[in-house]
Amino acid sequence: MTNRLVLVINCGSSSIKFALRQEGQSEAVLSGLAERLGSPQASLSFKSGEQSHQASLHGNEHVDALSALLPLIENHAGQPPSAVGHRVVHGGEHFTGARVIDQEVMDAIEANAPLAPLHNPANLIGIRAAMGVFTDVPHVAIFDTAFHQSMPAHAYRYALPDELYTLHGVRRYGFHGTSHQYVTNQASILAGMNAGEGAWLSAHLGNGCSSCAVLNGRSLDTSMGLTPLEGLVMGTRSGDVDPNLHAHLARTLGWDLERIERLLNRESGLLGLSGLTNDMRQLEQARADGHHGARLAIEVFCYRLARSLAGLAVALPRLDGLIFTGGIGENSALVRALTLSHLGILGLNLDPDRNIALPRGQAGAIQGHGSPAVLVIPTDEERQIAEESLALLDTQTRSS
Ligand code: ADP
Repeated sequence: MTNRLVLVINCGSSSIKFALRQEGQSEAVLSGLAERLGSPQASLSFKSGEQSHQASLHGNEHVDALSALLPLIENHAGQPPSAVGHRVVHGGEHFTGARVIDQEVMDAIEANAPLAPLHNPANLIGIRAAMGVFTDVPHVAIFDTAFHQSMPAHAYRYALPDELYTLHGVRRYGFHGTSHQYVTNQASILAGMNAGEGAWLSAHLGNGCSSCAVLNGRSLDTSMGLTPLEGLVMGTRSGDVDPNLHAHLARTLGWDLERIERLLNRESGLLGLSGLTNDMRQLEQARADGHHGARLAIEVFCYRLARSLAGLAVALPRLDGLIFTGGIGENSALVRALTLSHLGILGLNLDPDRNIALPRGQAGAIQGHGSPAVLVIPTDEERQIAEESLALLDTQTRSS
C-alpha cells in the first residue's frame, strides 16, 4: 500500500492555505494559497517541489478554490487523500484533541465562535465547503487550543469572579498548540529521549508569538490566554498591558472599544514600538543602520520573551531545554542571543558560533557548556495536523 495522503486546510475568511502531505514525508507533495476569495481578484497559487504555478478558478468562493484542488491532487499525487485535516483555532473546553467532524463537532465549533469571532466562523466555512468537495473521506478538526487543555486550573484561571468562568468561559485557553506539540516532540527525539519525553520551554515566534511549558508531552502553562493577544510582544499585537489600559484610553482619549482593539491587535507590538515595521528581518537591518525604534523594539521583544520563559519555568520540575521556532525563532540569531542574555538565572547559555552558524531551515543544538539544551527546531504544523488526523483514524479503525 502506498503511503496515505492528507489534505491539510487552514481556512480564513478570504483565504485558504492548503498542503497535501504524505505519511512519513517531511516535504509537502503540494502546497499553496487561495487568496482574495469572495472578490473578483480571487486567485490560487501552488507549489510542487521547487516549481510555483497559478491555477484557474471557476468562481471566486471557497468551494471553487477547493474544487480546483481536485484535479491538482489527481495530477500531482495520482491518488485521492485518505483524510482532510482542518486547522480550527478555538475548541474552547469542548476539545482536548483531534476529532472526526460530524454535526456535533460543527455545532461546538460554532458555539465557541464568540471566543474567536474572526477565526471559527471562517474555519467553519472551510469545513462545509471541503465536505461538499471531498465527499468520500473523513474530515478531522485539529484545534489550536486542544494541546493546552492539560493545563491545571491554577494556570488557566484568571483571578476574576467564578461565574465569569463557569457561565461565560472566561479563562486562559492558549494557542499555537499544534506547533508547541510538534517541536517539543521533535526536541525529545533530538535529545535522544523517547518521543514526547522531557521538560521543555518552547518559544513559537512568528507574526503571532507564544511561549509554553511542556512536561512529557503535556502543556502545563502557556503565555496566550482567552485570546491570542495575551502574553508576548508580537508583530502588531501588544501582548500583556495593564488591563486598566482600556478604561484609561476611554477616559483620557475618548476611544471606543473598536479603536482600542485595533490599537492592541494591529498597531502595537514590534510595529508600534519601532514606528517602522512588524517584520523582524527589516527591524534587524534598521537596528544595524542605527534606527533607535528598531533597537528598542527588539530589546523589549527579547526581554519580555525571557521574562515569560523564566516565569513559565516554575511549571516544570526541571529544565531539559529551551526550543526556538517560528519564522523569528528559526532564523534570528540576534533574537536568540539577546533573549538568552537574560536567562542566566535558568542556567541557560549559548554557544555564539553555533548560534550564528546554524543553517537555515535546519534543526540543531546551540547551547554552550554546562547549559540545558537550547534547540532551534523548524515547526511544521501541517505535518502535525496530517499525522494527528491519521493517528485518530487509525485509533477509530482499531476500536471498531
Ligand atoms: P506566521 O506567524 O505568519 O506564520 P512566520 O512564522 O513566517 O509568521 O514568521 C514571520 C516573522 O519571521 C517575520 O517577522 C519575519 O521577519 C521573521 N523572519 C523570517 N526570516 C527571518 C530572518 N532570516 N531573520 C529574522 N527574522 C526573520
